Amino acid sequence: MNKNGEVVAIVPNVRCVECGSEVYIDSFATPYRGELACENCKTKMWVEGDMHAGFNVTRLYASLKELEQIWFLLEPIEQSRMTEASRCYVMAPSMCESACFDALVHILRRVYGGKHELGTYVEKLKKDPELADLHGAISYFGSIRNKVDHPVTISKPLDAESTFAMTKRLILGIARKKADKLRCKAD
Ligand SMILES: [Zn+2]
Repeated sequence: MNKNGEVVAIVPNVRCVECGSEVYIDSFATPYRGELACENCKTKMWVEGDMHAGFNVTRLYASLKELEQIWFLLEPIEQSRMTEASRCYVMAPSMCESACFDALVHILRRVYGGKHELGTYVEKLKKDPELADLHGAISYFGSIRNKVDHPVTISKPLDAESTFAMTKRLILGIARKKADKLRCKAD
């Protein structure tokens, strides 16, 4: 009950973007704008809105789950870049994209040698028969080649989301097919 004698309910109104559990927001705290964590799966979300208009819920940190199995093949710098990318993809999309590009360049330099920029390696990837099944992800980076080599434009959250997803796909595929190369360079 509040001080006017009205019964105030804590209304379940936000659902976790990961597991679908209800995330409770105290109606006194609305309109709400801030970070919330799911009690069930601990996923952190950015929540904005109020009881009348509803709430916008965005995943705050992107998942790196897909990379778990090959994480040990990544060098610390690549792991850090991907972790940074996962933590800023909503709030700082340009930084997310540039962290993804850095991680990719680093891995590709280990696989193919040289000190080139990402665009050069995208051309190498296109011609690598071992990676033919990564065609979609490779052509994604081909299509943003200018930005990849000269990341001066401001990214939108959707750009960062696609780039992050494609980077994970590419890293996973490369790590599976080129595990020997990554392993011996790491030793
Ligand atoms: Zn959850």
